[in-house]
Amino acid sequence: SFDYELRIGIFGAGGVGKSTITIKFTHNIFIEEYDPTIEDEYIKEIELNDKKILLKVLDTAYPEEFCDPFPRWVEFSQVFVLVYSIIDKYSFGEILNYHYKRIKNILNVQDYPKILIGNKSDLFTKREVKTKKGKELAKQLNCKYIETSAKTGENLNQLFYEASLLAIQELKNK
Ligand code: GDP
Ligand code: MG
Repeated sequence: SFDYELRIGIFGAGGVGKSTITIKFTHNIFIEEYDPTIEDEYIKEIELNDKKILLKVLDTAYPEEFCDPFPRWVEFSQVFVLVYSIIDKYSFGEILNYHYKRIKNILNVQDYPKILIGNKSDLFTKREVKTKKGKELAKQLNCKYIETSAKTGENLNQLFYEASLLAIQELKNK
């Protein structure tokens, strides 16, 4: 049995690495190519400060379906992980213009825990978004900023560790 069951939602534009991050962390496999329309929930057991935790990670994606899945994703999430790619300026803009805005339309996202992720840090030679930009946006959203690489695994443990701490804190506040 587990001390906590935590639900983490991974949001962000197509191609930023949501599936790759999720699968690398939960199964330690780097995916070269993954169907961008597949949404799925992954589980992983972790230990944090002597607590046994069942992590449920929702890898979001838009399938070809009539119903908009966005509200269901928001309802699922105790923590919002907002991902862009450091080699894709457009995906950075989409954090505020689309993802944050849509979450805010459903709940008071200011009051919920979130983390901003700049992924693909291994591709720094093609960088389009400076670290400073990420930090500024995180400050504006009142959350942490972490740069990750789903390829090398850099900071993935830190990402899910931080997200779990935030989710536990959130549960305690309720
Ligand atoms: P999603 O649409 O957000 O789920 O994006 P995917 O996880 O399908 O990733 C899109 C592409 O980016 C795939 O070809 C991945 O292999 C690649 N990718 C994802 N994360 C990284 C990363 O950190 N570094 C590198 N070099 N490639 C990555
Ligand atoms: Mg995907």
